[in-house]
Amino acid sequence: MIRFHGVAKRYPGGNDALRGISFEVTQGEMVFVTGPSGAGKSTLLRLIPLLERPTRGSIIVNDVNLATLTRRRIPYLRRSIGMIFQDHRLLPDRSVFDNVALPLVIAGFEHKEAQRRVRAALDKVGLLDRERSDPATLSGGEQQRVGIARAVVSRPSILIADEPTGNLDPALSEEIMRLFEQFNRIGVTLMIASHDHALVERLGHRRLHLADGALA
Ligand code: ADP
Ligand code: ADP
Repeated sequence: MIRFHGVAKRYPGGNDALRGISFEVTQGEMVFVTGPSGAGKSTLLRLIPLLERPTRGSIIVNDVNLATLTRRRIPYLRRSIGMIFQDHRLLPDRSVFDNVALPLVIAGFEHKEAQRRVRAALDKVGLLDRERSDPATLSGGEQQRVGIARAVVSRPSILIADEPTGNLDPALSEEIMRLFEQFNRIGVTLMIASHDHALVERLGHRRLHLADGALA
């Protein structure tokens, strides 16, 4: 499903974010990427939907070697990967419904089908009653759940989350992680970067621990 072999990433300017890492995540796994700030967690996750290109090594996602993907094929790769960020990146001038619908609108879904899918996704995260709301009027935890609904609305096989609970208190953080577990239970593969060791420990999933760009 996701395979890294000898992957290194050096940013322009000489920063070595990853120093030749290899690992495999099989379909349906839920894996935490842990390590201190600057260890390379974000970089590792950003390579999977090709938000960054590796400097060397190979990455296989859903049987596709990313090095062979042409620019034209990248949108198809990204449609199979839902992305969730710490700051959720919702559009402030659109309703909750419109935010979640955005990936479907871009993919050209017709209105009725898009509406059905948006409602199914909002239902999954428990926010069906907020579809008309302005995201700014929601709590931090609710905003993050809208971000998750937007990430799953295209039914991706992989979810990538970069510090999804970084701005939330412990109770809300656990609630968000439990939501990820629900998607994992229906077969979605998850990779979640977190530096909240206590929470990761408690949930007890597999861990990839990064230190200074290497797997420990
Ligand atoms: P983490 O997510 O674990 O905090 P990152 O992947 O964000 O780690 O960063 C790993 C290293 O790469 C850090 O030294 C960081 O400063 C550097 N880095 C990250 N993004 C860039 C960038 N766009 N340009 C240059 N250096 C970067
Ligand atoms: P629907 O079939 O109407 O989309 P479901 O109840 O099957 O409704 O799913 C509700 C939501 O849960 C979906 O819109 C999607 O966000 C998410 N979901 C369900 N199954 C999957 C899956 N296999 N992969 C990714 N997301 C899924």
